[in-house]
Amino acid sequence: MKKAFYPGSFDPMTYGHLDIIRRAASIFDELTVSVLNNKLKTPLFSVEERVNILKEATKDLPNVKVESFSGLLVDYAREKETYVVIRGLRAITDFEYELQNAQTNAKLSGGLVDTVFLTTSLEYAYLSSSSVKEIASFHGDISMCVPEFVAKLVYEKYGYEMK
Ligand code: ADP
Repeated sequence: MKKAFYPGSFDPMTYGHLDIIRRAASIFDELTVSVLNNKLKTPLFSVEERVNILKEATKDLPNVKVESFSGLLVDYAREKETYVVIRGLRAITDFEYELQNAQTNAKLSGGLVDTVFLTTSLEYAYLSSSSVKEIASFHGDISMCVPEFVAKLVYEKYGYEMK
């Protein structure tokens, strides 16, 4: 069975993330979306909220699981016995950071952990969680970035009604 996991902050999940999830789920037999519990970042949504959003958004995909993890990615990979990491590439600017991460994880795991990159569909290439938050903080329109139920939750965080 071909297994992979897709780690990230997903704060919040966007259509760009969903696009990568759907495509990875069609390539692998089992995909775990792994929400990183990063103590260094102050997220808009708690880990539990992010996991719940992802579960709701992927409920039609039977081979997708959602969970959270903290600590080193390679330790998590060993624990899960899942050695393929999925990451999305939007633009050349993502590349340097992602390449460094992929090589670090390969080195740290003695070559056990490999990273597979999926390039984003062009229509979502401009999307990022941080721009969603910035637009929403000014009560701007985020309907083209996230599903409606997510938009509602994001606006709530900023004390706004749904646009
Ligand atoms: P991180 O903080 O780990 O970078 P993100 O939640 O921002 O977490 O992103 C997780 C992964 O999803 C990364 O590989 C990132 O490049 C990818 N990603 C983010 N936005 C998009 C998008 N619009 N299209 C495709 N991939 C994306």
